Parts: sequence; C-alpha cells; structure tokens
Amino acid sequence: MSEEGLRTFCAALPKIELHAHLNTSFSKVTLQALVDRKIQLDPTFTSQKMTFDGNETAGIEESFSKFRQIHMVCNDAHAIYTLTHDIIHEFAADNVKYLELRSTPKTIPETGLTPEVYLECMLRAVRDCEEGGVDTVVRILPSIDRRNGVDVAYKTVDLAYKYAQSSNGVVCGIDFSGDPLVGDAADYVPVFQYAHSKGLKLALHLAEIASFEETHKVLQGTTVGRIGHGTFLHQCPEDYKDITQCVLQQRIPIETCMTSNLKSQTVSDYSSHHLEYWHNRQHPVIICTDGKGVYQTTVTEEYVHAARAFGLTRLKLWQLSLQSIDHIFADEATKQTLRRKWESIKPSFDFKDR
Ligand code: 5GP
Repeated sequence: MSEEGLRTFCAALPKIELHAHLNTSFSKVTLQALVDRKIQLDPTFTSQKMTFDGNETAGIEESFSKFRQIHMVCNDAHAIYTLTHDIIHEFAADNVKYLELRSTPKTIPETGLTPEVYLECMLRAVRDCEEGGVDTVVRILPSIDRRNGVDVAYKTVDLAYKYAQSSNGVVCGIDFSGDPLVGDAADYVPVFQYAHSKGLKLALHLAEIASFEETHKVLQGTTVGRIGHGTFLHQCPEDYKDITQCVLQQRIPIETCMTSNLKSQTVSDYSSHHLEYWHNRQHPVIICTDGKGVYQTTVTEEYVHAARAFGLTRLKLWQLSLQSIDHIFADEATKQTLRRKWESIKPSFDFKDR
C-alpha cells in the first residue's frame, strides 16, 4: 500500500476516540494562544516545551513533568472551555465521529476553579459544538488522579454521578489515571465498586508499567469497562499469569496509544507494540491518541502506524474502527446511530490495498 494512499484512506475513515486527556490533547495553535494569554496575565511566567516533537522520546517521568507545565497554563475557566471547544473541532476535522474526553476536575482557588465549574466549562463547550453543527458525538469522563487520594476520588465519583443525571448522559463514566509510579491502584477498588454501583462505567489505566500486584487486585475486585494502555498485561511473571487470562476471558477492551507509549519509552518501537498481541487473539482493541498535543499525533496517524507495523489491510482498519463502537460508554441508541453512519459511508470506500 502506498504511504499516501494509506494516509488518505485512514484520514477519510470514520473513527472513534476513547482515550483522550483534555489537557494533553491541545493543538499547537490553541496552546500558543493560551500561553500568550497566560503571559499577558502574568508577565513573569516563562513557558517550557510541552510537546514531544518528531522522534523525541523520554522516560514516563518527562511526560508528567510536561503535564505539570500544561496545568500551569490551563488553570482557569477560559482555558478549560477553549481547550474543550478546540479539541472537539480538531477531532471532528480528523473524522472522529465519537469522542470520549477525559479530564481531572480541579480546584484552583486563585482562578475560581472548582470541580463543578471545571465540568460545567467542558459541558458548555460540548453543547456549543453540538449547537454549532459539529458532527461528533462527545462524552465526558471525569478523571480520578491516583496522586490525589481516595477521599478526592469518592468526591469525583459523586460529581460524575450528579452530572451524569443532569447532562442527559454526556457524563457517563470515570477515568482512573495519574502517575503510575505514585500510590497503589488497589486502594481505589472500593471507589471503583462505588462508581459501578452508581451506573458509571470505568476506564482504568492499568499495567502501564510492570505493576502486577496492583493490577491483579484491581482486576479481582472491579468490573472494569476498559483498560487504558495495558502495556504489561501480556507480559506477566508466572505468579500473575491469571492477569492475562482474566483480561482475555472477560474480553476487557484495551485502549491502545502507540505513539504515546513509544515517546514515553514504555514500548520500544511500533512493531513490538502490544496491540498486535491482543489483536491476534481477536481481543477488542481501540486505537487512540492519549494526548494528541503532547505526543504530536492524530487518530489518523495512529491508524497509519498500526497498518504499517502489523500489515493491516484497509478492510481490517475499517473493522477496527467499526468494532470500536461496541466499546463506547454511551448508550445502545448512540451505538446504533453510529453503526448506521458507518454503514451509510461504507459504499464510498475503496478497500483495495494498493
Ligand atoms: P487532565 O486530566 O488534566 O485533563 O489531563 C492530564 C492528566 O491526565 C495528567 O495529569 C495525568 O493525571 C493524566 N494522564 C495523561 N496522560 C497519562 C498517561 O499516559 N498515563 C497516566 N497514568 N495518566 C495520564
């Protein structure tokens, strides 16, 4: 398949994005505007580089250092609204027809941000995009940051539940993320059970690093909706072999973020990415970006990388995007609408690999 033909095909493909963090999914244009505004408000502010450009890679700690920088810029209602609004338009331009955007609702007294204000900014942007005719269905997952402890986590679940009721289902689940080197995911199992009892779906970052003990406990104690990254799920030592079995048997979908994993050095190259392991076992995988801004990628690019690395045909790429619909957190009616959309577009596609 020619590089250009493949990229054109992947760009035109209708796609699903299920693993996008708000503060790491900026475009360079939006980030620059927000940095300029920050400097106007605080002339002493100096910005550092917040992206991995080209083939740049660094350990996972460097990603978290960049996230801290971004949070210094995106720390008020204007920034949260602008990010959400622009990111939805950018995914729409990349033919993403359904987007789940996740973010940690923050308390920042200096700028008046509370978790409620934070979520309302995101919801307002979602509404404005919908009213403006953007052809992308958007859902929001408030994130639990594992650095903030269990008490804050319970509050995030209560907040998500409250907004799930009042947003007509736009808020529909919870993400669990934050620095995997900090704290123990197993401490959050009661929080996950609580969220599940409230009808909230759970997308959990698990086994991003070789943290088998906590991964095992979480899988034993939780109804996991989807796993983020799951980089080490298939590389368990003998004592933890049932982790891999559990994921396979329960068919827990895996959100794969190839470029993010490469740039943060948890995977060495595209062709050794774990997407292949799961895909070869007909296990559900969803191709995602993680942070299209920080890692300088797009959903289209991620499909191109997957096709190149694993020799996926155009028909396979289509099936991967279509099957992703099965794993969205929105309701059955939304799934049906999306499937009909895929069916109606399909005749315009040429599936010949050349
Ligand atoms: P935010 O929640 O502020 O919109 O997005 C940035 C936050 O998402 C980070 O501070 C971190 O908690 C989480 N995050 C972003 N990318 C990753 C990742 O690759 N792994 C983990 N564990 N957390 C991430």
